[in-house]
Amino acid sequence: MLEAPSSITPMMQQYLRIKADYPDTLLLYRMGDFYELFYEDAVQAAELLDITLTSRNKNSDNPVKMAGVPHHSVDQYIQKLIKLSVPVAICEQIGDPAKAKGPVERKVVRVVTPGTLTDEKFLDARTENLIMAVHEVDGKQAVAVLEISSGRFLAKDITESVQSEINQVRPAEILTADSAVLTEQLPEDRVQEVPDWYFSYERATDLLKAQYGVDKLTAYDCDQYPVATAVAGALLQYAIDVYGSELPHIQELKFETSDEYLVLDDCSWRNLEIERNLSDETRNSLIDLYDRCSTAMGARMLRRWFRKPVRNRLAVQRRHMIIEHLLEYNISDSVRTILQGVADVERISSRVATKSARPVDLVRLRESLQSIPALVELIQPNDCPEALTLCKAMDTVDEASDLIARAIREEPAATIRDGGVIRQGYDTELDELIKLRDDSGQQLAEMEIRERNRTGIRNLRIHYNRVHGYYIEVPRQAADLVPEDYLRRQTLKNNERFTHPKLSEFESTILGAKEKSLAREKLLYEQLLEYLQPFVSRMQKSADSLAQLDVLCNFARLSITDSLQRPILVDEPGVSIVGGRHPMVEATQNKPFVPNDTELKQQNRLLLITGPNMGGKSTYMRQTAVIVLLSYTGCYVPARSATIGPIDRIFTRIGASDDLSAGNSTFMVEMTEMATILHRATEQSLVIVDEIGRGTSTFDGLALAWACADNLLTDIRALCMFSTHYFEITALAEYSPGASNVHLTAVQHEGKIVFLYEVRQGATKQSYGIQVARLAGVPSKVVSVASEKLSQLTESAGNREQMSARQSQISFFDTKPCDRSPALEKLKHVDPDELSPKEALETLYLLKRLEED
Ligand code: ATP
Repeated sequence: MLEAPSSITPMMQQYLRIKADYPDTLLLYRMGDFYELFYEDAVQAAELLDITLTSRNKNSDNPVKMAGVPHHSVDQYIQKLIKLSVPVAICEQIGDPAKAKGPVERKVVRVVTPGTLTDEKFLDARTENLIMAVHEVDGKQAVAVLEISSGRFLAKDITESVQSEINQVRPAEILTADSAVLTEQLPEDRVQEVPDWYFSYERATDLLKAQYGVDKLTAYDCDQYPVATAVAGALLQYAIDVYGSELPHIQELKFETSDEYLVLDDCSWRNLEIERNLSDETRNSLIDLYDRCSTAMGARMLRRWFRKPVRNRLAVQRRHMIIEHLLEYNISDSVRTILQGVADVERISSRVATKSARPVDLVRLRESLQSIPALVELIQPNDCPEALTLCKAMDTVDEASDLIARAIREEPAATIRDGGVIRQGYDTELDELIKLRDDSGQQLAEMEIRERNRTGIRNLRIHYNRVHGYYIEVPRQAADLVPEDYLRRQTLKNNERFTHPKLSEFESTILGAKEKSLAREKLLYEQLLEYLQPFVSRMQKSADSLAQLDVLCNFARLSITDSLQRPILVDEPGVSIVGGRHPMVEATQNKPFVPNDTELKQQNRLLLITGPNMGGKSTYMRQTAVIVLLSYTGCYVPARSATIGPIDRIFTRIGASDDLSAGNSTFMVEMTEMATILHRATEQSLVIVDEIGRGTSTFDGLALAWACADNLLTDIRALCMFSTHYFEITALAEYSPGASNVHLTAVQHEGKIVFLYEVRQGATKQSYGIQVARLAGVPSKVVSVASEKLSQLTESAGNREQMSARQSQISFFDTKPCDRSPALEKLKHVDPDELSPKEALETLYLLKRLEED
């Protein structure tokens, strides 16, 4: 805490008083045309923003460090600080400098933190900006997530890890209690600590009651989720602190459970390149390809649907029904055309709620709401109950639209500050003030002509500036024509400036009318925002339905442009895809994509995939995962047909990358990912394993890969696609029901390898590694030595290798004889001491028969 020495100026005392309330926030203190920072804030800002650090009262005993930014470019500095996760408090002059005795009255009008932004210019229109809170009570962890710009608010108990929640939600800011000791490390740069009492359950329930305007929370499930409720309370308190007021637009807290959505951990999200291409930022991700939404709120909803595919089959089918309806009536393009004119109703509604909506926001809001009847007419929802429900939820909020139409001009000024916003006829008092102001303007023009005639000075002009107000300007050479009643104000090189009692009188009338009209407009605008408050939740509902319609229209259009088909969601476990394609690979390359089938079901739940390097194994597996994911978002899928059973999670172990900064080698990363899968996967999970065990010795790698495949097959019983270059593992399919081999094809043609990318039954041993190395540009000398070495190895190892492979298979089976050999299984239950000689002989025959079957 900074101490105020007695010698300190009244203004600095005011600064220190205000700063004391914002100890962990950079305080931007308005002084004239600058925002100044002092003391440690100045040092920090100078470093972060690359601005000059100076001192106030340099020559005194106590110089104060100071740095400043011009007020007109403050936004760009705030943006920079927010990107660096540094919260900022903006302190404005709110008093009248002319009337102030000491320093002008100042107040923090806005706190800007990374997770609570609603200002359009700081936000990316197509992505959500979220704030998360996390807390642990008696080993039980919960998170809450809030999007202030839409009011969406949810909380859940954590069943896995805080890290995976953070990875999935990607909050811009994370709240924790300042004394919290969490088991997991949080990303420090995004953490914001708040006092422990923020996380009190009692306080949370009080806040929620006030938020919902109820006396009891019986209907809201809070008692079922006490930790999640407490965390949500902390988040709500923080948001209220930041805005310095209630936030009525924050929607009802929704408690989520982990089985509502198909879980896609962060690793799979990256591996499947849903949002970003792994290898090349400039190449398409799935969202780049599939987000052709017409509105920003649609684009955000699409991202949400992709992040949280719904496991409830009926909910997804409802989306499918609407897409089908749009396709049947062939209206997706016309609907999209209307949607292109629809503004971000969701974020505008929140700005209305926080009373920060600009005049043009209101005009766009009105226009958007008014376009709903045309949309509904086009959709003709009466034949499709799902579309009808959606259309009914698109509320035109007529009362709000009418009010805005009456109050706001067609093309209002950008801000209310300079007037030009309120429509003529809305308020008599304002109309009169404006008339007075404009008439005075006319009279002023007339006065100019009159004075020219009176004085005979042809170039006499009446001007205005902020320092001198209105003045009469006369060229110097005409100075002797100036009448006596002119009072000299200023002498310039070429001109003389005068005033006149009549002019001063006009000036006060004009300025008075102008000032009053501006104040009146401001008041009317604030009142209008107040009148609109009761309609915010209806606007939010409308926004939600418009966004849904936008995403579904987008899906409908994609199904035409990208040949997508409606997937069939069924209760029976399994994945059956005919003619599946990988959307990003298909879009990127200029050669035709070869579609392939995938058949995974409990009787055939492990697909062991072999084939040459570059043969398409990885693409084949990823396309299956992407199709399954898309099926549960409501989107149609890139396949001729797809029948998808219940899936709880998608796991992927793809590619190998070092995580050296975290002290993990390639092999360690690989094993950590695999460990997560083996601990978490269930019978309903889709598991993609693209090569495992490559970063260690061949035998260690093979043994580990085998054991993992075996565990997934027999213990976890997940639906699994497992690609490998260890040919030995393909033997698993020969002995284990539930596993089968497929391979990607390639042929040699004139010494060159030609990839066919077709998935066929059975295993292949050929990796064509050396040919692929040649394709990759490895020098021919190295390639030919490698070929020679390969022949030697193949020849000398020949039978020995096969034998050892067979032995290793046998030893693998030995670990779990009951699953592999019915004879051994039978033998396990035989007690030799209990058998008669005849029974012993019969048992021996039985065992022999079982072994031969
Ligand atoms: P490696 O074993 O070396 O990791 P891989 O077998 O996993 O290779 P992919 O990475 O899936 O091979 O595919 C290599 C390239 O082949 C892709 O980038 C793509 O250009 C092309 N490809 C893959 N599958 C197909 C397909 N079905 N149709 C057309 N081209 C394909």
